[in-house]
Amino acid sequence: MNSTRALTMLTAFTLGVGSVPSPATAATGQCRLPAGVLQSTALEAKSVAECGAVGRLMDAGDGVALPVQEPGGSVTMDLLFPDGARTYSLTTDEQGRVSTTKRPTMPPEHFQDLPGPGACERDSYQLRPYKWDKPWLFRTTKGTALATHRQSDFDAAARRATANMTQGRNTCGMSGRTHARGAFIGHTAKQGNFVYADGQTTCGESDGHNVIDTGDLPGGFLEATLAWTCTWAETRHGVTRAVSADIRMNNADYNWTYRPGDDPACDPAFPPDPQRWRYDVESVLTHEIGHVYGLVNLSAPEDLNQTMYPGIRRCSGHMRTLGRGDVLGMRALYGPR
Ligand SMILES: [Zn+2]
Repeated sequence: MNSTRALTMLTAFTLGVGSVPSPATAATGQCRLPAGVLQSTALEAKSVAECGAVGRLMDAGDGVALPVQEPGGSVTMDLLFPDGARTYSLTTDEQGRVSTTKRPTMPPEHFQDLPGPGACERDSYQLRPYKWDKPWLFRTTKGTALATHRQSDFDAAARRATANMTQGRNTCGMSGRTHARGAFIGHTAKQGNFVYADGQTTCGESDGHNVIDTGDLPGGFLEATLAWTCTWAETRHGVTRAVSADIRMNNADYNWTYRPGDDPACDPAFPPDPQRWRYDVESVLTHEIGHVYGLVNLSAPEDLNQTMYPGIRRCSGHMRTLGRGDVLGMRALYGPR
């Protein structure tokens, strides 16, 4: 391109922006978004729709990025580690303004050895802004298996974990039944809606399907992620509803069991030997499904025996039954039945 022609084009472009005051042109001029992951300040006080930013990845903190949602949409990513959890969310309000939050939860050191108050002695719960107004109907991806090679074992654990939440299964003598509903509805060829983009794995965009699968979850923190959940929600006229939720369990970095109490290979007496650390599939799924339904990680050390406390005891099935606070949280969201 010769320089005269380049200059002509540049002039035309500049004039074009200046002399055609259509809203679209003006907005493009205002937004001028950089390539790659957007910083959360890139869209400050601007509308995602006018900036054409929907679907772009935005930094939600700690180098974790989430896709910018349509106006009214939100996505929440819950990362569970054996010793803690991290939650990141991105929300686009109905006016198209985007915001992000992050929240780490770190149990005290050696929490594995702390007895803590009993599961029935604590009332704590915290709620997300969303809940479901229809059943959470999920499938598992064909070939999904942990610990044994049988998908039927995995499916059964996922089914029980869902019932643990919706029925409020507990050992506190509480009636835990609520109007929350959910069911396993079979297998799918689809994977959970997790995408790999800009060098990292993150939640994709809401696709209306609910899928549980397994995969190699990334590290990036001190330890690899044990399980993660993405939940998408929509706000219309001020009412927020969950619309889809996917869960992925790490089949690459951890060992799992379906029988935490009597698995001969599950020996909690050898904590320094990671080969013998096994995590209970149903317990971890129950915690993750708590997020699906709208419960938030608890962070007070006194809550360490609640299912929504992100301290996963090895070789333990204690999170299969809800604590008093977990039951109260589900009741607050869905109402007792
Ligand atoms: Zn959690």
